[in-house]
Amino acid sequence: MYLDAIIIGAGFSGLYQLHQCRDQIGLKTLVIEEGKEVGGTWYWNKYPGSRCDTESHIYCYTFSKEIYKNWKWKERYPKQKEILRYLKYVEKKLSLKRDIIFNNRVNSAVYLDEKNLWRVKTNKNKTFYCKYLISAVGSLSATNIPNIRGLKNFKGGWYHTGRWPNKKISFKNQKVAQIGTGSSGIQIAPVLAKSVKSLTVFQRTPNYSVPARNKKLTKTFIKNTLDKYNYIKNLLKKTPGGHAFHFSKKSIFEFTESKRLKILEKAWLNGGLSFRACFSDITKKISANKIVSNFIRDKIKRIVKDRHIAKILTDFGHPFTTKRPTLNTNYFEIFNRKNVQLVDLKKNPIIKITKKGIKTKNEELKFDKIIFATGYDALTGSILSLNLTGRKNIKLQKYWKDGPKTFLGIMIPNFPNFFVISGPGSPSVLTNVPAQIEQHVEWISKFIKHLEKVGCRKVEPRIKETENWVNEINILANKSLFMKAKNSWYKGDNIPGKPKKFIPYPAGLPQYREICNKVQKKMYKGFNISLK
Ligand code: NAP
Repeated sequence: MYLDAIIIGAGFSGLYQLHQCRDQIGLKTLVIEEGKEVGGTWYWNKYPGSRCDTESHIYCYTFSKEIYKNWKWKERYPKQKEILRYLKYVEKKLSLKRDIIFNNRVNSAVYLDEKNLWRVKTNKNKTFYCKYLISAVGSLSATNIPNIRGLKNFKGGWYHTGRWPNKKISFKNQKVAQIGTGSSGIQIAPVLAKSVKSLTVFQRTPNYSVPARNKKLTKTFIKNTLDKYNYIKNLLKKTPGGHAFHFSKKSIFEFTESKRLKILEKAWLNGGLSFRACFSDITKKISANKIVSNFIRDKIKRIVKDRHIAKILTDFGHPFTTKRPTLNTNYFEIFNRKNVQLVDLKKNPIIKITKKGIKTKNEELKFDKIIFATGYDALTGSILSLNLTGRKNIKLQKYWKDGPKTFLGIMIPNFPNFFVISGPGSPSVLTNVPAQIEQHVEWISKFIKHLEKVGCRKVEPRIKETENWVNEINILANKSLFMKAKNSWYKGDNIPGKPKKFIPYPAGLPQYREICNKVQKKMYKGFNISLK
């Protein structure tokens, strides 16, 4: 089957890209989706307690006033189920389903030089041909299941938070192990702790976490945000992370100690990702960061009664925000419960998984179920799993063996007419993702429209511009505090053998947007466009 465009993935990015390609540009377009319905990451992340930690009134599309105004979010942070409902609402509104095939995973995509077409194959033996191939597979979808000896022998059930099964799993009165304490682990643990017989949390790196302070949204708040649609849409374009808060313009050092504390207390009480923005320099200057890191440490120590456990939970070893900041609802409180234990993997590492549980250096523990909240092969894993072969038989795995090479995080040399939404080299995971997705989809769509108008046969970025872009990211990352985290998936440290390079563009969405717009204004400088 021949198509003008194939989009891989039916999450936030794939759905909007389909609308743009099909309804705005007029291309014959198909979305190929592995899941059995729309949702992308929110289809797979169905674990108990799964919820977004970006506020609901901005974790959504803003491209359509009608779509924005006709949806009412229920809580400050949307539950996984609510986001799925929202995406289904958008899908229906735009009649997208008729151009999506589900239950098909793209296994390979090969660029056929002589025909200027991509040949795309799925695990259901379906083959498609297209001119434009667009990856909308998400930055956090290739799961990281640690290679722990003995997992296949475990007689109980085991699950990864990012590939949660469709059927209901009961943890009631069960002995449960949870490995990993990132955003997902911190969300699932308090929910499980309420019903399990025992929960043992295996922690490798302690996590700074700020209270989410979730709440039901009031009618007044909902009305105000809907009325302020234009303002919100604009605001998301101006803030560094595409969130609805500005960073304070004032340094922490402009305040006396007691005033600093007052400001921090207020931000802590308010909760949410804006906590890091209450001074201008928390994310930029190590001396400012230290004060705030200590503030969080003290807060956790006040919650957790057992001093030894509190110490394990706060023995951070990296500055606040240099790994993905997380929000929690009563996470630290669970360590005051009798049925919750903490294993410090730094002192007591896992040796193997046995038939009945987990053997660590110091003990052998029995479990009915093991949960891996161990994250993802972020940003590159999902794209590499497509098994892309570009011009002259160049494999993406080989081309990226020393780290991802993209221009603007959007296109890759030697892989003509292949676009990536929120790819490595774009701000992606450092932002409110739907805001970045809208920017990318709109930029890519405008580009494709231009390519069609000028009669383009194929397009790819130039090597020089790509190298400059990769260097620029390196330079920016080295100037930032991000590099002070020894182990972070932002730079590939969580996956054995993965190149250790900072992956997302770290200078914020407005600056990135400006660069993309400049490239567009200069008639796509940096790209080789071959005409028919
Ligand atoms: P993550 O942030 O990568 O956390 C993974 C956790 O597993 C970390 O504590 C990590 O420890 C640990 N881990 C990894 N490999 C391990 C191993 N071999 N042995 C022991 N521990 C190991 O993954 P995540 O929590 O799924 O979150 C990923 C991202 O998804 C988030 O940052 C966020 O962008 C997104 N997400 C968002 C939400 C939300 O909106 N609320 C919810 C879930 C996920 P180390 O730190 O030592 O590597």
